[in-house]
Amino acid sequence: MWERVGKNSSDNRRTNRGLVTKMVATGQCTTRSELVRSTGLSKMTISNIVSELMELGILEEKETVRNEEPGRNPIRLVISPEAPKVAGLVISRDRCECILCDLNLQVLKREKATMEDMTEEKLIQTVYQLLDTVLYGEDNVAAVGVASVGPISIAAGMILKPFFFFGIQNVKIVQIIQERYHLPVFLDHDNQSALLAESLYGNAKGYHDVLFIGISEGVGCGIMSDGQLYCNRRGLPPEMGHVSIDANGKPCPCGNKGCLEAYLRSPELLKKLRYHTGKYYTYEAFGKLEGDKKVDMIFQDAVEKLATATVSTINILNSELVLLGNDSVYWPDRCVAALEEEINRRRFVEWEEPVLVKKAYFMQDASLFGSACNAIVQIFSGNLTIERR
Ligand SMILES: [Zn+2]
Repeated sequence: MWERVGKNSSDNRRTNRGLVTKMVATGQCTTRSELVRSTGLSKMTISNIVSELMELGILEEKETVRNEEPGRNPIRLVISPEAPKVAGLVISRDRCECILCDLNLQVLKREKATMEDMTEEKLIQTVYQLLDTVLYGEDNVAAVGVASVGPISIAAGMILKPFFFFGIQNVKIVQIIQERYHLPVFLDHDNQSALLAESLYGNAKGYHDVLFIGISEGVGCGIMSDGQLYCNRRGLPPEMGHVSIDANGKPCPCGNKGCLEAYLRSPELLKKLRYHTGKYYTYEAFGKLEGDKKVDMIFQDAVEKLATATVSTINILNSELVLLGNDSVYWPDRCVAALEEEINRRRFVEWEEPVLVKKAYFMQDASLFGSACNAIVQIFSGNLTIERR
C-alpha cells in the first residue's frame, strides 16, 4: 500500500530510504560502501536501510563486481524488477504523450496522441485513453507525474490559460487524473520537469545552478538554483519566453512587447526559414542543412536574440549551465557554441568558470521523461513511501 506523507515530515528513516533509492536508481552508487561515502550516513544505517529496501522489493543484490584486489568482492545493488513503476504524462500544444517507466527511468510502455481541434473534453478523453493504455494490467504503479504547458498552478493542480492552446483553460488536471486512477498525481511545468529529468539522469547531473530553455510552440524555461527547482509560494513556474528583448518590438498576446517567444517560438522560426529559402523543410532538416547562407543568417539572428534574453536571465540567476531542449536540440552545434561564447562575453559576473551551454541529454523528449520524474522525485525525497502493513 502506497502512502503519501506530508512535505514537512521529519521522519529521517523515510528520507534516508528515499535518498538511498535515488543514489542507486540514478547510478551514483552501486555498493554499500559507495553509499556510505556519498550520503555521509554510517555503515550501520546504510546496512539497515538497504536491508529494509530489499525486504520491500525496491533493491536487490546483483552478481559480484570483479575486483583485482584481495578480499571479498563488493555486492552490487540495483533497483529490483519488483520495485514500483511510475507513469508520466506530458501535455504539450501539439501532442499528449504518456510513458510507464521504472525507477531507472527505463521506458516500459509509451503512447502518443496528437492535439488537433482540441476542447477541454477531448483533452480529458485523450489523457484517459493514454493512461488507460499504459496502466492496463499494472498493479504496482506508485504515482502519475504530469508535465504541462504553462502557465500552470502547481498548488491548485491546474493548467491555467496557456497561449495557443485551443482556448482551453483552467483544467483541474490533477483532480481529473486522481479521481479516475486513485493514484497520487504530481504536476509541474513542462520545462521544469525536463530540467528535473536532466538533473537526475541527464546532462545536468552534478550541476546545481542550471537554466533549461525549451523552444517549441512556445518558449519556456526551467530553473534550478542550489540544487532546488525554482518554485514560488503560489506554485507559479518561471516564464522566460516573456522576457522582452526589444521594448519597441512585436506585440505579444501577454500584453508585453518584444517577448523572446514572439520571435523564437518554433512556428515563427520555421515560417521565416521557409519564406527566405523557399524550401519546405522541417525544423530538424533546416538544422542539418550545411552551407546555406540564408539559413545560417536566420540561425545567427536566433542565437543573438536568445543570447540577449539568456544573458539577462543569467545576470539574475548566475547559472553555471544552460541546457537547450525541445526543438532547439535541432539547432546546429555551431549555434550552441556561438550561444555559449556570446553569453560568456556579455554576462556581468566575471567567474573563473565559464557558463556552459549543452543540448538536453533526453533531446526533444526531456519533458516526457520529466513528467515521470515528477513522480519519481517524490519517492526519492521520501514524500511517497511504501510501508509494510
Ligand atoms: Zn509575452
